[in-house]
Amino acid sequence: MPRDLAPKMIHVAELARANGWRAEPYGSSAQGVPLLAWWPTTPNPTRIVWAAIHGEEVVTLQALHQALRTIHADDACAVVVPVVNPDGVLLGTRQNARGVDLNRNFASAAWRPDPSPTFWPTANTRRAEFRTQISSPGATAGSEPETQALCRLIEAIQPELAIDFHTPLECVIALSEPALPFAEHLAEVASLKIVRALDDPTPGDSASWCAEHGVVPVTYEFELAPLPIVWSRHRDAVTRAIVERRPDRS
Ligand SMILES: [Zn+2]
Repeated sequence: MPRDLAPKMIHVAELARANGWRAEPYGSSAQGVPLLAWWPTTPNPTRIVWAAIHGEEVVTLQALHQALRTIHADDACAVVVPVVNPDGVLLGTRQNARGVDLNRNFASAAWRPDPSPTFWPTANTRRAEFRTQISSPGATAGSEPETQALCRLIEAIQPELAIDFHTPLECVIALSEPALPFAEHLAEVASLKIVRALDDPTPGDSASWCAEHGVVPVTYEFELAPLPIVWSRHRDAVTRAIVERRPDRS
């Protein structure tokens, strides 16, 4: 790790490194914040797991930091990216520093230039009255440095499975048939419902891009709750996401 990162990251770094994890920058945000991926010890990770692609969903990055502190890298099959959108985390916004919803910016076939309506971060249901934010999907498909960096990382790893953590919809989303067994394996821990189709289109989302690049996408949504509640309920599912290679291995 570059020396200038060490003071900012000492706590997570010490605990994660003690568990054998290795941090590697994979790019920079629009505001120049390093994007960090944590690598397990296996030379061929089969999964990538990420959080905080929406910056106001801070509990998701806290959960992945907890995972790095509690899971040994020797047991893991996943590269872990706790913060896809650090600028949004710092600004308290769903979007990145340029007002772009990164989960509408991926260069999938369905990407569209139209603004996407989104929701107040405190809304715990996707009802029309919460639809008060308008996000940009970016000037062009894949325009944002955070999106480009994550795509490059996924292409370098060539994982079988990508698990994307969000809040607050309290469900596991499996839009494709291959995603279903993985989604069921994760969802059973906290008795989450499995969602097979979304009410609204999500053009340019990471799941579509992953599916088009041969990676099975699963989206795991926590409920609206602080970390102690989220971690006690979902710890075993987060661990399954990072540790287990196949759904039938439990
Ligand atoms: Zn989200």
